[in-house]
Amino acid sequence: MRTTNTGIKAPVSEIFLSHQGEGVFVGELQVFVRFVGCNLRCDYCDTAENQVITEQQQYFSVDGIIARVKKLSGGKPITVSLTGGEPLLYAGFLTKLLPALKKMKCKTYLETNGTLPELYKKVARWVDVVSMDVKVASACKANYWAEHRAFLLAAKSKAFVKLVITDKTTVAESAKAAAVVRAVSSTIPFVLQIASSVKHCKTPSPETVFTLTQAARKRIPHAFACPQMHKIWEVR
Ligand code: SF4
Repeated sequence: MRTTNTGIKAPVSEIFLSHQGEGVFVGELQVFVRFVGCNLRCDYCDTAENQVITEQQQYFSVDGIIARVKKLSGGKPITVSLTGGEPLLYAGFLTKLLPALKKMKCKTYLETNGTLPELYKKVARWVDVVSMDVKVASACKANYWAEHRAFLLAAKSKAFVKLVITDKTTVAESAKAAAVVRAVSSTIPFVLQIASSVKHCKTPSPETVFTLTQAARKRIPHAFACPQMHKIWEVR
């Protein structure tokens, strides 16, 4: 975050209109606000260029983002997806942006890696939907079971969970992820999000997807697998 004589600004790489490509709201038209900077380094990250802030980074004020949202939505209420990177790294900025979006009657949709529950609590009152990833060691170098549990306890009435699965995801990881979610609430939607191949990871085989889904469904019967639709549609 940066403070200038025109107020606080956050690093944002792009603001655009597209269809949501993942999770339970797939297909919904949303304005995406992509924050730069992340506390993790996942192998399947398809926005790796947004993990680190560079000297050329552009910064947006709350007013600047609101103006872009109004232009893209034609001034009508729309769902605004805060994505990244990890948007919660800018929780202070979000305490200004989110109320402004609610004033426009927008639905606010937070895409998060689910590892920063204390920062989530600072913005929770203005968030309508939480799309929370479960991060596992086979792709993200560590497990975050305690953080995810604390996050879901704070967000369970608004959250759905995505476990991104790759050719390296293990049955034990799928089972544990589902167990952690179920221990908080058995009604939280659980999606096994099939990763598209990128530099450091490969799409899992159909057999692997089947096995991982079965492992999750033993804990959460409504768990289901889904491809990244925006890759299929070839949209952002
Ligand atoms: S948490 Fe998200 S943005 Fe951060 S490295 Fe992982 S996939 Fe990329």
